Amino acid sequence: MHTPDGHTRTCGLIGNPVAHTQSPLIQNHLAYVTGQNLVYLPFPVAYGDLEAAVRGALAMDFLGLNVTVPYKSDVIAYLAEIDPLAERIGAVNTLVRCPGGYKGYNTDMPGLYRAMRQEGVEIADRDVVILGAGGVARAVAVMLLDQGAAGIHILNRTADKARAVAEEINGMAGRPFARAYALEDYGQIPGENWLVIQATSVGMHPHVEQAPIEDPAFYRRVETGYDLIFNPETTRFMELTREYGGRACNGVRMLVYQGIIAFELWTGAAVSQEVADELYRMTTQALAQQPSKGADQ
Ligand code: NAP
Repeated sequence: MHTPDGHTRTCGLIGNPVAHTQSPLIQNHLAYVTGQNLVYLPFPVAYGDLEAAVRGALAMDFLGLNVTVPYKSDVIAYLAEIDPLAERIGAVNTLVRCPGGYKGYNTDMPGLYRAMRQEGVEIADRDVVILGAGGVARAVAVMLLDQGAAGIHILNRTADKARAVAEEINGMAGRPFARAYALEDYGQIPGENWLVIQATSVGMHPHVEQAPIEDPAFYRRVETGYDLIFNPETTRFMELTREYGGRACNGVRMLVYQGIIAFELWTGAAVSQEVADELYRMTTQALAQQPSKGADQ
């Protein structure tokens, strides 16, 4: 690692909480292996201080920031520019210096897409089931539309929220692309060999014994169960998917790739597959040693 000097660039994570973040591990390792003179630190930002934090970062010439819960949408008000994909998703997790301020990007969804490709999960022309209708589920729906899925089935505990997301996505698609259901209504979804993207927070540490759906009849129809949760390494949803013959993935690769894409935006460096794989192993190991309790970056 470069010893910080007068040329060192600073990047960081703003959010609340940030204490259990894996991003400093990911970003400082990337700076080390690519030889960039850059440090990355977590910055807890109190409610009400978001604008001051972005202005402060700008005043101190920070190269970039990651943004996590609960500021991914609120930060948009303080940007000089926004990338069209981030605008469509309505959430920004990466700020990059630009003339007059910061430009906001969403690297979560390109990160998920890269992770799925790496794991050989096909999206194009496929019907995809999404569990959840929160911020991430909505972003996943946009990504699936952009990547040519045939259609999506959104299931959520609060069915009205699933309906609102489906309506919005159908508006973007200009055709009936998304359908909404209550979580327990999976019996109404046609077909089998599903790709299911688990985008609820159910099963996240410390509630590791929970899954959003328990019924074997659901899991028998799952071909790939892709959980966006990265702690624990194997969620109950993943266990059930495997028990009934499906393939299961967790959210660690998405976490790693959203960080790699942010780093590439800040530095212009290209990160190799070998480094990405090494980071995947390191992050998995770090998560196993230090159970995270909330931060999603
Ligand atoms: P969010 O906006 O708070 O949404 C939470 C979702 O979980 C909602 O659909 C909610 O349903 C559902 N839910 C919560 N408790 C439930 C319960 N007891 N039973 C059934 N459904 C329940 O959260 P988010 O920001 O979208 O994040 C969702 C997940 O994505 C989190 O687990 C997070 O760790 C993960 N994530 C991963 C990465 C990564 O890099 N791998 C990045 C970001 C997020 P209601 O609408 O009914 O409340």
